[in-house]
Amino acid sequence: MTRNNGPADPLGPNTALVRAGYDPFDYYGFVNPPKVHASTVLFPDAQTMDRNGQKYTYATRGTPTTDALCDAINELEGAAGTVLVPSGLAAVTTALLAYLSPGDHALIVDSVYGNVRQFCDTMLSRFGVDVQYYDPMIGHDIETLFKSNTKLVHTEAPGSNTFEIQDIPAIVEVAHRHDAVVTMDNTWATPFFFRPLDAGVDVSIQASTKYPAGHADVLMGTISANAEHWRALKRANGALGFCGTPDDAYQVLRGLRTMGVRLERHQASSLAVAKWLEGRSDVVRVLNPALESFPGHDLWQRDFKGAGGVFSFVLAADQTEDFKLKAQRFLDELSLFGLGYSWGGYQSLALHVDLSDRRIAKVPVEGPLIRLQIGLEDIEDLIADLERAFAASSTV
Ligand SMILES: *Cc1c(COP(=O)(O)O)cnc(C)c1O
Repeated sequence: MTRNNGPADPLGPNTALVRAGYDPFDYYGFVNPPKVHASTVLFPDAQTMDRNGQKYTYATRGTPTTDALCDAINELEGAAGTVLVPSGLAAVTTALLAYLSPGDHALIVDSVYGNVRQFCDTMLSRFGVDVQYYDPMIGHDIETLFKSNTKLVHTEAPGSNTFEIQDIPAIVEVAHRHDAVVTMDNTWATPFFFRPLDAGVDVSIQASTKYPAGHADVLMGTISANAEHWRALKRANGALGFCGTPDDAYQVLRGLRTMGVRLERHQASSLAVAKWLEGRSDVVRVLNPALESFPGHDLWQRDFKGAGGVFSFVLAADQTEDFKLKAQRFLDELSLFGLGYSWGGYQSLALHVDLSDRRIAKVPVEGPLIRLQIGLEDIEDLIADLERAFAASSTV
């Protein structure tokens, strides 16, 4: 049951987050959806069972809880359909498996999330897909890399750890002229700051582990496709048997409701820290698309509505110094920043980035690269923590 007098469209982005995917009057008015734990779903009679003639048939194919999240993501992405998988990594690998076959050529951005490269170099290659990495800054010139069997272009903007912004509309234009599918890992911006499908991307991928879940306690991924590519995605995921659990789907939907305000805070604090770092003599460069000094800032400004709270900086170092030791000394002096993988939670995190797997993209060589996720702490405290680490690590 729905009340009359529904709101006028289009809704503002935070209103959309609050309302997306679930109508409380579908379940007695309770504000949040029920958490349905299930495998078996019963049919009222054999004829209904024979024709799968009801909305739910078996829990791998969805439950009211997972549907509430999928419907919410569809609205936020502007997608024809969304599947849930158990991690962000599985979201990318499932998308690649859905659209690639032996003998196909796939173009993968060189600043891709590291574990995806691992998948491409092992399993995809083993299954006979010709994988080629390309420069994240290539833009229209990606056309020169196309072959008659190029079936897919995988994009990720900004790139993992080095934050290159790709010219997504240019790549989409070339790819579609060659009948190739364009997938995009949009984990950094989320559909709150960038809507890939609106930019012509066919399949939008999100590690919900990060900002949607938002509390460092859930692993999940979503894959959302436009109308043309939804069937193949649904079929592939059905064949693989991946699905999201009701508890995780519930947590991610709960996280989505506050994602807008959290992102605004992550954005404001990370920009303040980035600017503070930029003014220091012990920092060579700050890699953050929201900074005017960053190559690609113009593209970010043209296409994105905001910035996530993760970025990197190059720590100034003597070229004779051991960069790894230098990075470790700095990291060990931090007390508010946790040392750990992933991001999108409330706590600030730091790590030393390993770029040894890059083949095409140019990487900083002046000093060690430190990645920061700026959490929801008070910014004065974070800056004081960094200040202390700079002072202590430079004296050793
Ligand atoms: C973290 C991350 C992933 C993987 O997400 P998990 O849920 O940790 O597997 C994929 N892509 C990007 C860009 C990420 O940052």
